[in-house]
This record gives sequence, structure tokens and C-alpha cells, in this order.
Amino acid sequence: MHKEIESVYNNMLQKDPNQPEFHQAVKVFLNSVDSLVADEPKIIYHKILDRIIEPERTIIFRVPWIDDNGKLQINRGFRIQQNSALGPYKGGLRFHPSVNLSILRFLAFEQVFKNSLTGLPMGGGKGGADFNPKGKSDNEVMKFCQSFMTELSKHIGPNTDIPAGDMGVGGREIGYLFGQYKRIQNEVTGVLTGKGLSFGGSLIRPEATGYGLIYLADAVLHGEKDTIKGKRCIISGSGNVAQYTIQKILQLGGIPLTISDSNGVIIDEAGINEEKLSFIMNLKNVKRGRISEYIKAFPTAKYVARTGSEEYNEIWNTNADCAFPCAVQNEINELDAKHLVANGVFLVAEGANMPTTFEGQQIFKKANTLYIPGKAANAGGVAVSGLEMSQNSERLSWTKENVDAKLKDIMENIYKNISEAADQYSTHNNFTDGANIAGFLKVAEAMIAQGYV
Ligand code: NDP
Repeated sequence: MHKEIESVYNNMLQKDPNQPEFHQAVKVFLNSVDSLVADEPKIIYHKILDRIIEPERTIIFRVPWIDDNGKLQINRGFRIQQNSALGPYKGGLRFHPSVNLSILRFLAFEQVFKNSLTGLPMGGGKGGADFNPKGKSDNEVMKFCQSFMTELSKHIGPNTDIPAGDMGVGGREIGYLFGQYKRIQNEVTGVLTGKGLSFGGSLIRPEATGYGLIYLADAVLHGEKDTIKGKRCIISGSGNVAQYTIQKILQLGGIPLTISDSNGVIIDEAGINEEKLSFIMNLKNVKRGRISEYIKAFPTAKYVARTGSEEYNEIWNTNADCAFPCAVQNEINELDAKHLVANGVFLVAEGANMPTTFEGQQIFKKANTLYIPGKAANAGGVAVSGLEMSQNSERLSWTKENVDAKLKDIMENIYKNISEAADQYSTHNNFTDGANIAGFLKVAEAMIAQGYV
């Protein structure tokens, strides 16, 4: 690493200790842009790297709400407004008990480059709360969302910051958040994306991250004169991204084999077909149940319970061609990556954000795995959020076919841009460097043009 880059990294460690996920995201990024320093001295001269890792604004707030037993509950809410060089801050809200400043800072940082890669005019941000919607009644979720938005509404707006969903924030939560924003501001605007279709949502937004992931993976495979048709696929998670990833794999003739949740893993060697996918969607989205119930309906499948402290995850120890981690950060460690390579997996595309540890990524690099990092592979969600913003501004709704075609086009363009950047600045098919560099150069140029702000 160049000494200038090392000093940026060390300053960050000193300023923000105890933020391991944020450190990990910055380390991967700095490793990629290291090769630019010699050719692009203005990046160092204008201190772009120091500035890009420092959020423009960080908001942390108390969220009080009363549960169904009449007891007062207190959560912590956050919004990180990371970078607005390319447009208003844009990025999801995560409601999960693990949420803390480190996790949201890594997500906000990644979001800046992801949004840049979509080619749409969006800056990057991320937010959420350490609230667990699991096991809560609809009434409790609504009360929490209303209290959370009462504070957040002071900091967002259709031309300032437009949040969306992420883990634990789906259509139900976005509806409650939108209702409260409207009530407080007394205006109906496109301030959130992922809205219901009856109040400004876009067709294909729920599907967008999973569909986009498979469009990109298929584009990468076409680059290798191959296709996803007939490929055995491992998918982790069973939420929004996992469900539509499975749906698009089925539409393109691939064979989905697995799902997971935080309690365990399902491995279905017979393949997950449309009927089984409908069961999963009903189980997760309507009944809000656990995936262990899958084997009651389909007893030939295998369920492996997990505590989370195991050395490796059985899901990655499955014979397959392609893997799509769609659950959570750092779900593929070094040993998991070794298992994937040993089991014949030659393409890993990340539906989740940063699901592979730094050490796991090195294993894929050594094995020449076609590895596509989340900031490129899961950009379809925010891309369609960008299209939802355009529809809201026009006060029009585009057709499903129109939005889907635009999504496919954006994902194919991302593939083109990241592979060209990899060829120019790094090595062929190094999509980590390609995504970081292609995403970064555009933001850096805008930051330089806008002066020291
Ligand atoms: P959901 O809340 O809909 O689903 C998350 C899934 O991950 C659930 O099945 C959950 O299981 C599972 N999960 C959570 N923690 C673990 C764990 N430790 N081990 C195994 N499984 C776990 O979220 P999304 O599908 O929206 O998001 C999934 C990932 O995709 C996240 O990393 C998110 O940041 C990323 N992403 C999402 C986008 C979107 O548009 N929604 C856009 C881009 C990226 P359980 O029910 O047990 O909690």
C-alpha cells in the first residue's frame, strides 16, 4: 500500500476505534484504489480519500415507544448522510437488534459507490435502529415507526435524503414511516422508496435487488460464454433479496438448492421449485414464521439448526456452481470460502452487503472465482428506488415491463463498467477493484468540482 493510503487508514483507525465492520469496508476499498495513486495525484492533493470516509453528517437519536403491555421501550435511531456529491443521500433503513454505528457506517460507505455505479444521480446514506420487528405486533411496529419518523422527518426530504428499506424494513414498515412523515410535514412527496403501489411505489421495486443480482450474474457468465441455465445455486437468507433471487434463477432455468435464516439452514437437493418458493414467501412474508417449518411441508429436504457460533456454515458446504449470499454481513468466513471453492462453486455474487470476510475474499481471489461484490451485485434495489423517485417527480407510474427492462439495462451496464475498470486499472475479472474504482472515480470527480465542502 502507498504511504499516503496507509496514513488515511491509520488515521481512521485512531479516530474511530471499535468499528470493525467499517474498518473492513474501508480496508477493501483502499486496497482497490491504491493502484490509482500514481496516475491520479489530485486524489491525494484534494484529500479525497480522507473526505470520502468522513460522513457529511451523522444523526443519532432516542426512539421512545409504548409496547402492547403499556411499557415504555427505548431504542436508538441513526441516519448517516455519507456523501451528496452525486445527488441527494439515498440508502436503506435497517431495523435489527445488531444495528450500531459501525454497521451503519460500513453500509453508508458502500452505498456511495453502489449508487455511483447505477449511473443515477444519487448520493449515499444509510440508517436504522436497534429495534427488532421479529415477534412484535403490527401495532407495536407502527408505534415504533411513528416515533422513529417523528425525529427522522427533521433530517430528510425528497431533495435532501430519501431512505428506503433494508433488513427488517419491508412494505409494512415503509407504509407506517411514510404515513407519519406525511402527517408531520403535511405534504405528499416521494420522500421514501419501496412504497406500496397505491401510494407512489414502483412496480418491480420488491423484486429489484434479487432480479438485478441474477441479471448481473448472468451477464458475467455470458462474458465467459456461459449461462445460469442448469447451474446449481446456493442462496442464503429467506427474506426479500433471497426470495426474488430464487424467483429469477427459476425463470432463467437455474436450480436453487438452499435457504437460511438466523436459526438454521435448509438444503433441498431436489431443488426449490415455484411451489416451494410460494410456500417460503407465505411463511416469511405472511405468517412471519421460521424456515425450520419447510421440512414439515417438504420432508425430503434437510434442516441444519445453527447457533451462529459454529466454525463454518453447512450451507456453503454444498456441491454447486454458483453462490448467492443474501442474508447478512460476514456470513462467509475463510473456511466457508474454502468449502465453496472445494465444492466446485466458480461464481459468487453478493445479494447481501459485505457477506464475505476480508480473508474469505482472498480465498476467492486465489482461486480465480468470479467474485462480484455487493456494491455492484445488489445495486438493482437502489437503482429501481432511483426509478421510483423519477416516477414520483413525474407523478406517473411506469409499466412492469418498462421498469424491468431499465433494471436489466442498468445491471448490464454495471457489468460493462466494472469489467472495463478492472481491465484498465487492475486485472481481468477482478470485480472488487473494478467496482471500487469505477464507483469511486465518478464521486471523486464531482467532489473535486464542488470544492472543499
Ligand atoms: P430481510 O429482512 O427481508 O431478510 C433478511 C434475511 O437474512 C432473513 O431471512 C434473516 O433471517 C436472514 N438473516 C439475518 N441474520 C442472519 C444470520 N446471522 N444468519 C443467517 N441468516 C440471517 O432483508 P433483505 O432481504 O432486504 O436484506 C438481506 C441483505 O441484502 C442485507 O445484507 C441487506 O443489506 C442487503 N440488501 C438489501 C436490499 C433490499 O432492497 N432489501 C438492497 C441491497 C442489499 P431471520 O428471519 O432469522 O432474521
